Amino acid sequence: MDIHEYQAKEILSKFGVEVPVGALAYSPEQAAYRAREMGGEKWIVKAQVHAGGRGKAGGVKLCDCDSAIQQACEGMFGQKLVTHQTGPAGKGIYRVYVEAAVAIDREIYLGFVLDRSSQRVMIVASAEGGMEIEDISASKPESIVRSTVEPAVGLREFQAREIAFALGIEPALVQQMVRTLQGCYRAFLELDATMVEINPLVVTADKRILALDAKMTFDDNALFRHPQISELRDKSQEDQRESRAADRGLSYVGLDGNIGCIVNGAGLAMATMDTIKLAGGEPANFLDIGGGATPDRVAKAFRLVMSDSNVQAILVNIFAGINRCDWVAEGVVQALRDNPVEVPVIVRLSGTNVKEGQKILAKSGLPIIRATTLMEAAERVVSAWKSDLNQNTSLRAAK
Ligand code: ADP
Ligand code: MG
Repeated sequence: MDIHEYQAKEILSKFGVEVPVGALAYSPEQAAYRAREMGGEKWIVKAQVHAGGRGKAGGVKLCDCDSAIQQACEGMFGQKLVTHQTGPAGKGIYRVYVEAAVAIDREIYLGFVLDRSSQRVMIVASAEGGMEIEDISASKPESIVRSTVEPAVGLREFQAREIAFALGIEPALVQQMVRTLQGCYRAFLELDATMVEINPLVVTADKRILALDAKMTFDDNALFRHPQISELRDKSQEDQRESRAADRGLSYVGLDGNIGCIVNGAGLAMATMDTIKLAGGEPANFLDIGGGATPDRVAKAFRLVMSDSNVQAILVNIFAGINRCDWVAEGVVQALRDNPVEVPVIVRLSGTNVKEGQKILAKSGLPIIRATTLMEAAERVVSAWKSDLNQNTSLRAAK
């Protein structure tokens, strides 16, 4: 789960990371009021969306008066911000953060990630701040400092000092840098984060170390331990299809193709998508309905897949181990009776009680296309989609 910049800053500041003064606003008027309250002469108005690259996309504006703040906000509220991280649809702006503008002496990149190969938290830093880490590693890979933390002892001062020296932090600021690094590490660990990124971390002209941006991602499977973090979830920033699915306990990822997939098991769902591509089609989604695959879940899955208007054919691929094919077949039949779909439906069942399952599908009188192997199922769904497409095109031509 991702959170907003202002939320990450609030969390990190509790762990000793210094941030500029700032306040949240839900309207242009409130933003201007917040700036007056804060005092100062220059402010940065920052669109709060779950994505980086806002600066280049017009989501970060420097303002020097009330009306400039209001104007910057008018251009943000209710708009979609498209950055290189949001995808072409962009993300809606419903909150802005107003922050004191600080005079920057130098910018540093700082990230904490989970490094799977060393099974450690890895600190990634670079003196080339202000750029995305991907760009730094492409253009100045030698500037990147990497350091993994031994979990038994945590991030010790000497290790944090070494990182500070490698970044060329001046001696008077090393202790502050150590506090920042240790604060981020503790926040990462104690809150079950999977990523903490401060880009840029800056040395200000008046010699302070401040986090000007902050991004945190949390492990979904650990959220139950952190109700105060789960509360920060902002559904307006998520793919609507995915958050609806998550609410129903289904694991769904929307894609750009047109063949809807309903599968039990994540591995089988991946294999199904691969096989559809091999057969010349494009999957519209990844969907794992879980091992249970009860009639109710199958019905929910059909509704979810069909809510994507790009879907022009559906492949149901169920492997019944603990489950039973006859039960799943009942579910498919019931779902299609309750909510008839207008696109071809291909069902491949395998495993326990497969014969009984096939019989139920055959007897239902519904236009379900059956398949035995996965390859056959993928070929059939692709050819059903293509012939449906041709038919529809010729129908339109005839009209
Ligand atoms: P993003 O990474 O989404 O583009 P940032 O928060 O990093 O957004 O802001 C982009 C740039 O704007 C920063 O690299 C920094 O140079 C500048 N900036 C951000 N906040 C401030 C601030 N409070 N004072 C001065 N400059 C800022
Ligand atoms: Mg940034």
